[in-house]
Amino acid sequence: RNLIPLNHPRRDSLLIREKLVEALENNILVPQGLIAHGRGECFDYLIGEKTQDFAENAINAAAATLLLAKYPVISVNGNMAALVAKDIVELSNEVNCKIEINLFYRDEKRVKAIKKALEDAGAKEVLGDDDLTTIPELFSERRKVSKKGIYIADVVLLGLEDGDRTEALVRLNKKVIAIDLNPLSRTSMTASITIVDNITRALPLLVKKVKELRSKDRIELEEIVKNFDNKRNLAEAIKFISRRLEALSEDLIGH
Ligand code: ATP
Ligand code: MG
Repeated sequence: RNLIPLNHPRRDSLLIREKLVEALENNILVPQGLIAHGRGECFDYLIGEKTQDFAENAINAAAATLLLAKYPVISVNGNMAALVAKDIVELSNEVNCKIEINLFYRDEKRVKAIKKALEDAGAKEVLGDDDLTTIPELFSERRKVSKKGIYIADVVLLGLEDGDRTEALVRLNKKVIAIDLNPLSRTSMTASITIVDNITRALPLLVKKVKELRSKDRIELEEIVKNFDNKRNLAEAIKFISRRLEALSEDLIGH
């Protein structure tokens, strides 16, 4: 970690990689998590490694949705525990929502390691290690969900998720808020609200937004949610990337 020069143009990104490697060593992450992160990094490069307007809009709608929710749950996997454990805990305190561990590659040792990471970050209650049931139509290990969590949730916030499960949750009439750098993924396309941004930037901003909107009345919050159109917002993200690439290519040849 000390070997990364302070002025390295990709310093933040390299520090995140270090965190993930550490998480791999601590059993929080599986190697596949590193590959998923690599796919995300590529899209982060394309959006300029910054929170753009389309992400701000989605964060606004997500904050309002969480404040209006009856029973919101944050679904946590290895990458999220490795990168944003503190922000997950802060968000769960701010909106009074449950934290549930839900893994693609479920393994009891990993569940324990992730639970410990969340508790070290201040979590008082972490679901997903017992009292499980299954959600229909899903065949991987992720169909196991907590009876006190995702199973009864009306709103589920997730990051770095797979498309199949996002689809299953939406089919069960849950509102899904996804944080995914790839605007083209099935998760992005099927979620109710997609925040196209790096989870390391998006989650702290979401916490900030929740604090800001907390004083608004329900009518105002409902208005924010009503005015948000996920497909339209994803189209903005894709257009942004396309225009940016065009501008960069024109810079290169001087017109
Ligand atoms: P889908 O199954 O939804 O079509 P996928 O199969 O392309 O997606 P997965 O490997 O299932 O992708 O999930 C990983 C997703 O997480 C990718 O879409 C990737 O862009 C995204 N991702 C990776 N790292 C981050 C990060 N730090 N912040 C936000 N999103 C990320
Ligand atoms: Mg997938």
